[in-house]
Amino acid sequence: MTKREILVATTNPGKAAELQAMLDADVNWLSLADFSNITEVEEDGATFIENACKKAIGYAKATGLWTIADDSGLVIDALQGGPGIESARFSGEKNADRQLIDHKNIAKVLKLLKSVPTEKRTARFVCSLCLANPEEILIETQGALEGLITEKEIGENGFGYDPIFFVPHLDKTVAQLTPEEKNEISHRGNAIRKLKPLLENLLENSEIRRRTPG
Ligand code: IMP
Repeated sequence: MTKREILVATTNPGKAAELQAMLDADVNWLSLADFSNITEVEEDGATFIENACKKAIGYAKATGLWTIADDSGLVIDALQGGPGIESARFSGEKNADRQLIDHKNIAKVLKLLKSVPTEKRTARFVCSLCLANPEEILIETQGALEGLITEKEIGENGFGYDPIFFVPHLDKTVAQLTPEEKNEISHRGNAIRKLKPLLENLLENSEIRRRTPG
């Protein structure tokens, strides 16, 4: 029996590898890097889950495969939920390298929160995951990590807003964690851990259906 193929809808090899390793399912994994000429699905939904599902369904239709897509970002209470789905492009800087874009996004957040006291600097990282086939959404999960926005950058690890995201129970910013420590508590890790048993169930049931047609 051939293994089911599942597409992870990302071109970021690190993200694809992390998801595949954590889900640890007996499937043939593919990523967008395995396809040429695939039209990009626009992330123009109003929520993380809408964007994740739009990408999952869009790429599932384009390839005919079960597809997992994600969307994630930073939600800050004092900014009425911003930057939210705009996290990647918050500063408006688009044509620079990733590090410069991250730096400008962080600078904008710190400026906007300049007069906000510590107890009101509450925030969370959010990650939505969606698995779809070309016809329908099969699984949706969401993970979050609660924390506080610092007044300056602390730590060298990670990416994006990690240096300004303080995790109170660890007394560290996410940029002070090792990748393994981050994975254990992160929004993405939590969303993947929720998806895992649901995917196992789905694979088991679809396998039974494949073996007993009609
Ligand atoms: P995407 O879902 O990978 O496109 O992430 C959107 C944006 O949210 C990223 O460009 C980052 O700015 C931010 N973001 C998402 N996850 C993280 C994280 O784990 N650490 C820091 N920033 C993150």
